[in-house]
Amino acid sequence: MVQAPDRVMRKDSDGASVDGVPKSTNNIIMVRSLTEFRAGVTLGAGANGRVYKATHMPTGRNLAIKVVNVYDDAKRVQLLKELETLSTHVSRFLVRFFGAFYDGSGAVHIALEYMDRGSLEDTVRKFGPVPEPVMNHIAVHCLRGLRFLHRHHVLHRDFKTANILLSRALCRAKLSDFGLARDLQAGVSRADTFVGTVAYMSPERLKGETYTYAGDVWGLGVSLVECALGRYPFERPSSFFDYIDAAVNKPVLGPGMATGLSADARDFIAKCTHVDPKRRPTAAELLQHPWITKRPLDDRVFFKWLDEVSSSTRSTPKR
Ligand code: ATP
Ligand code: MG
Repeated sequence: MVQAPDRVMRKDSDGASVDGVPKSTNNIIMVRSLTEFRAGVTLGAGANGRVYKATHMPTGRNLAIKVVNVYDDAKRVQLLKELETLSTHVSRFLVRFFGAFYDGSGAVHIALEYMDRGSLEDTVRKFGPVPEPVMNHIAVHCLRGLRFLHRHHVLHRDFKTANILLSRALCRAKLSDFGLARDLQAGVSRADTFVGTVAYMSPERLKGETYTYAGDVWGLGVSLVECALGRYPFERPSSFFDYIDAAVNKPVLGPGMATGLSADARDFIAKCTHVDPKRRPTAAELLQHPWITKRPLDDRVFFKWLDEVSSSTRSTPKR
């Protein structure tokens, strides 16, 4: 069992002064055992298991519990070790981790902060293209989450719209599922896992190079194109080689696509999705890009949009 450490061990390098985003210091809870939850509705399902809503009885708070089936003992130890590391990384732009429990029958239950508007992937799928000012807002929040992780030498490794969660209550987008291994189910091979895994992979990673910070920036670029188009940017790859071909040989956002986007937004996306990882700016550099610096954030625009998009559960199959 892993539990979130107490407040003194937590880091939030962004400090209290990040453009008026309040520091969330009053919502630290410690989940001590599975018996403290009352299970609620299923919120969604991913490649490794399902996510359900739960009430933490001692505090009355809503949580999201992610159930990951890990039958392999070594993988379970690996997951719990990774969660222990992640529990010390706390930022307003990362989904909070409150504890993890092994239920004795092959499943690890991970207690997470509940994000009341679900994933950006589901929202785009249901509501179509995201207006540019909202996209800009989401990009800023994601960049702050990413800058935080990278400053602490943590790679996200699975940056995609399914791992960008939205909260109307906080008026915020946060990153989830950072730093976790991709292959938790030993010996289980599923087509949707394969496609979901490669779909946001950078060209260099597809060619077998090791994962770097620039790989996360690529994932951000592809996610933003998905927001602009209202759909995943590449044709559904029927094979690994198709996807390599699409990712390496064509711009992710071609000239005729999302023509309503501003020149700054297009330049930002082109930089994130540069085929050469060395030419991709870092998250810190991207926060200095004109698309970010020239547009003062107006929370009302983001809030109005979050208000309009209803809480989404996965209704269509994964890619
Ligand atoms: P993968 O298995 O590759 O991570 P995924 O990210 O789509 O795929 P999950 O992380 O298991 O899968 O999440 C599944 C769904 O559960 C999300 O799309 C979202 O709708 C919901 N969900 C996950 N975490 C939360 C949360 N903290 N708060 C609210 N809803 C959540
Ligand atoms: Mg996820």
